[in-house]
Amino acid sequence: MPRIFIDPGHGGHDPGAQGNGLREKDLVLQIGLKVRDLLRQDYENVQVSMSRTNDTFIALNERARLAVAWGADGFVSIHLNAHNGSSNGTETFMHSSSNLPGLRNHLQQNILREIRAFGSVTDRGLKSANFAVLRGTYQHMRTALTESLFVDSQRDAALLKRPEVIDAIARGHVLGIAAEFQLVKRSNPNGNPIEEGLMIVRAEDFQWASGKERFETVLRRFGNQREQEAYQNNTLNVSDAMGVLAKAILAQPSQTIPETHRDAWEELTNRGIFNGQNPNHPLTRAQQATVIKRLEEE
Ligand SMILES: [Zn+2]
Repeated sequence: MPRIFIDPGHGGHDPGAQGNGLREKDLVLQIGLKVRDLLRQDYENVQVSMSRTNDTFIALNERARLAVAWGADGFVSIHLNAHNGSSNGTETFMHSSSNLPGLRNHLQQNILREIRAFGSVTDRGLKSANFAVLRGTYQHMRTALTESLFVDSQRDAALLKRPEVIDAIARGHVLGIAAEFQLVKRSNPNGNPIEEGLMIVRAEDFQWASGKERFETVLRRFGNQREQEAYQNNTLNVSDAMGVLAKAILAQPSQTIPETHRDAWEELTNRGIFNGQNPNHPLTRAQQATVIKRLEEE
């Protein structure tokens, strides 16, 4: 059973990179904890340990020592980048003397793909360096250090401020680790293995993909009580979310005429330009052509 050691960078008196109101030490801890939880929740044959699970400072050589002492098979150090405000994107490192690029390559590929679901991300590529945590671990286990996005870049910071992007970065790490160590997905509660290739969209992805506020507005109007509660508890599944949207799409538009438009609507209806029905229905180009013809014929 692979033992994976997760190392969120910095902590305590060492904030790491800072910019745009973001601190590396806070975000990498969030990502690291999520990586740990997702690995434990979604995969059968994995053990996970961490260098820190709260805001404490741990020296670099101590991080490496802990991973080696625990007998880790994989070591993933999680960082965010900063430069001069103008660099952006994601890159992943292995130790300069290592000849095992697999973990690095799987991490970079998966992190990039997961973040790109939310915006454009520069691929800064696969790199090697003599970082202390890699130096202290690479001879004992597969080792990589990720730098996902720049906190001091406006473009990247905008991404990092979205909780769903933090989730995506964590998911990218999990998928990269799972690919490298050939982790086995847990069966779902019915005992069936979760099918590869089946699209599983989590409710929160779905909410963000369609715009959280707009989705919530639609859910308030068209969701039933169970669906509203599921949404509050983050357990709304995709088919129910689709059902709510379908109800919204198929619903009759409101027949209430907004006060500001009432006079114009009544006048144009009386003149026969509109037929007086569905005042809030969107107008297609074809319908608009008919309206223009009626105006010309007046
Ligand atoms: Zn760092």
